[in-house]
Amino acid sequence: MGLNILIVDDSAVMRSMIRKTMELSGLPLGEVHQAANGREGLTALERNWIDLVIADINMPEMNGEEMIARMQAVPELQRVPTIVVSTEGSRTRIGRLERWGVKFIHKPFSPEMIRDAVREVLGNEVAHGSGAE
Ligand SMILES: [Mg+2]
Repeated sequence: MGLNILIVDDSAVMRSMIRKTMELSGLPLGEVHQAANGREGLTALERNWIDLVIADINMPEMNGEEMIARMQAVPELQRVPTIVVSTEGSRTRIGRLERWGVKFIHKPFSPEMIRDAVREVLGNEVAHGSGAE
């Protein structure tokens, strides 16, 4: 069974770069959904089963931080492993994202950085998911 991923970035070029990186990562992929801002991202999360979110921060309409903040308020979305790929330099903002369990990657990124981050967040998810609730 492949991973259903959601790529949220206002740049179509960046979305296809991330998609290609994921295709080359060796990880089994299922559906690949794309969204151009946080609002579209939340809609995709409501309508589809998503195993992994890879999101930008700076986007029109709703930025990535607000999208992730809203995900934190929804129990079913709170645990979706999330990676942020951004040029963001604010330590405060990065710290906030990291407290939500988000893995942060600076642009420009290498395919290896994405692949390693995906393995890291999915590994964490497996570890948390095996606990009693
Ligand atoms: Mg952007």
